[in-house]
Amino acid sequence: MYSLKQFLLVTTALFLPLLSTAPFSKQTPDTAPPVDTPYHETARYNSPEPDQYAACLHYLESNRTDYLAYQQKHPELNAWDVVTQVNIGLNRPFYTGIQTVDDPNSLLVLCNKYRKLPDGYAPADLRSLSSGLAAGSANQMRREAADAFEALCADAKAAGYTIRAQSAYRSYSTQKSLYARYAARDGAAGADVYSARAGHSDHQTGLVVDVKNATQPYNRFGQTAEYQWAKDNIHKYGFIIHYPEGTQSITGYKTEEWHWRYVGKEAATAIYNLGITLDEYCAIFLTGNASGTPSLTSDTPGQISVKAGDTYTFLLKPQGALQVPTFTTGNGEVLATCGLVYRGGNYYVSVRGAAPGSTNVYASFPGQTPVSYCSVTVS
Ligand SMILES: [Zn+2]
Repeated sequence: MYSLKQFLLVTTALFLPLLSTAPFSKQTPDTAPPVDTPYHETARYNSPEPDQYAACLHYLESNRTDYLAYQQKHPELNAWDVVTQVNIGLNRPFYTGIQTVDDPNSLLVLCNKYRKLPDGYAPADLRSLSSGLAAGSANQMRREAADAFEALCADAKAAGYTIRAQSAYRSYSTQKSLYARYAARDGAAGADVYSARAGHSDHQTGLVVDVKNATQPYNRFGQTAEYQWAKDNIHKYGFIIHYPEGTQSITGYKTEEWHWRYVGKEAATAIYNLGITLDEYCAIFLTGNASGTPSLTSDTPGQISVKAGDTYTFLLKPQGALQVPTFTTGNGEVLATCGLVYRGGNYYVSVRGAAPGSTNVYASFPGQTPVSYCSVTVS
């Protein structure tokens, strides 16, 4: 259910806006193919079939054994989803192997059933939402999120929709008693699908607001005209629906159309366009090869030079191709990493030099042999 739909969403969204055929006319294969050989034929002359897991942008060598074990349990998943889901922690039962987040003040902080906030954490920049917007008593948010929510509500109002805050920031102790009450009523397993354990709540970040309209209780928000407007607009203000329909296998929570999480416009737009959850976004784009600060160029080069230890990143030019390849390095001793990065609304190929030498970057479409994309010299 999830994997195919999600894979199509990811592949379609990733792959639609990309790629000119131009890069493929600039091939520098390891062994020269005959002149005028079509690029899908030249692949035969090129380098090795990449390992399907290692070829993923967010592959982590330390998780390799877990990828293989998880794939055995989930033969229906493709390699990309296996890497994503294991990076999230989904190969373990919920609330096991829990990590404490080291960046609780980041706008991209991720609290879920594998990640908790540091003990005693409370945001330093909470403020109350302007009166008139708050329908409940918990009406504080971090300043940037509150500003964005108020702007969103004003624009919604102008479009004829009324959006109010039902519940925003909750302290550790508030969440603790809330969860205890639900668990006493429904049992822990029952409560876990709609309420977070203390320390694991998105609400404790100060970046979340549960919303309602003027007439319906918050948990009917999905049936309102306001939701129909909101689902395709809130990303423009930096918000996402953290627990959208069909994602319980990823987040562990039932659908909550009312639970909006502020992540900033760039990440919200990427998450919206890709049709993924914040949990997947963090597992894909904030992990492994995707980390670090790229240097950018607007050209897609046929030949690039990079110093060992440096990262070189180039823009992918939009084009009408239906798929985007996975990028791999021909020689991992020369080029440490190589992969697709999404930043600021654009896609980039990012490579990092390891040791002096030359190699090619290969592009492979799902189910096809890789082709040479550009050559790289590391000095
Ligand atoms: Zn909520």
